Amino acid sequence: MSKKVLVLGEVREGVLRNVSFEAIAAAKKIASGGEVIGVLIGDEIQTNGTEMIQYGADRVIAVEHPHLNKYTSDGFSQAFLAVYEQEKPEAVVFGHTALGKDLSPKIASKLASGLISDVTGIEGEGNDALFIRPIYSGKAFEKVKTKEGLLFFTVRPNNITPLEQDSNRSGDVSLLSVEITNLRTVITEVVRKVSEGVDLSEAKVVVAGGRGVKSAEGFGPLQELANLLGGAVGASRGACDADYCDYSLQIGQTGKVVTPDLYIAVGISGAIQHMAGMSNSKIIVAINKDPEANIFKVADYGIVGDLFDVIPMLIAEIKQLKV
Ligand code: FAD
Repeated sequence: MSKKVLVLGEVREGVLRNVSFEAIAAAKKIASGGEVIGVLIGDEIQTNGTEMIQYGADRVIAVEHPHLNKYTSDGFSQAFLAVYEQEKPEAVVFGHTALGKDLSPKIASKLASGLISDVTGIEGEGNDALFIRPIYSGKAFEKVKTKEGLLFFTVRPNNITPLEQDSNRSGDVSLLSVEITNLRTVITEVVRKVSEGVDLSEAKVVVAGGRGVKSAEGFGPLQELANLLGGAVGASRGACDADYCDYSLQIGQTGKVVTPDLYIAVGISGAIQHMAGMSNSKIIVAINKDPEANIFKVADYGIVGDLFDVIPMLIAEIKQLKV
């Protein structure tokens, strides 16, 4: 049976995040020929609707309000629920991002619905869809199926392949007027600790440093390598605790979960809490001077050596390839 599916598009600094396109691809599978409706919430975000359509949404509903120019769970939940009430979909998809993790449980509970969070793959389609999600910090995967009611799930960034962008696709982008009231928080300013470069949670390449990097300056060459590969720098908690870098870069059980195409672990031992945040990366390269380091158990390629020798060699080699 075909379904009507709502997909939340996430806009940051005027740009739709990739996970929105991945969520549309997931929604298409579930819709099984039904309608996929993009939802945009913010202030002056309607123009992003065209891109959602080019990535597969059939139409887009934008809720614009000055109170929605920065994310608050009160404001965004009022806006999303208004769209939900108008459309009465059978399924809802969000990205499993900081915003999605905050908003989805609130909306699911308001709708008395279940929530399948952190989906990394979908087998089958429509009513037969099986949702794959990690459990026990990524040590195992479960397959979940819903029996009845609203199907509400979040997709982990970088796991579901988006559809090809088709600039010839067209569809309606409409505005829905919603009264936003009773905001318990007003965000006056957002100060990003890491303001430049590729977003760590969506990066296709992550170069992560650990305590083995030995200093904040030691992260310089890692940043250079990441820049050369078009990626982002991450870190173990060991490196953050030692003050080599900011906690916003921490990857792991109590940090960010990343699934890049290439993860380069540099001077990281491979503690279970770290692996919970990166073991699903498509290709893992580990650089460690200890051949017994745990990280080699999950690595596709291992380099046993001193990172202070290996990283400059890699940088020089990649620069050579680029000329
Ligand atoms: P270490 O374990 O000290 O490893 C450093 C590695 O660098 C060693 O393997 C060493 O051989 C190698 N090395 C040293 N010098 C060189 C060199 N010159 N060249 C090459 N290799 C070198 N950790 C996380 O990362 N993320 C989390 O989210 C997280 N959450 C946690 C939650 C809880 C509740 C707890 C208890 C712990 C958590 N931890 C987390 C901490 C985790 O247990 C480890 O302590 C931490 O991951 C270790 O960081 P590390 O690998 O950088 O340091």
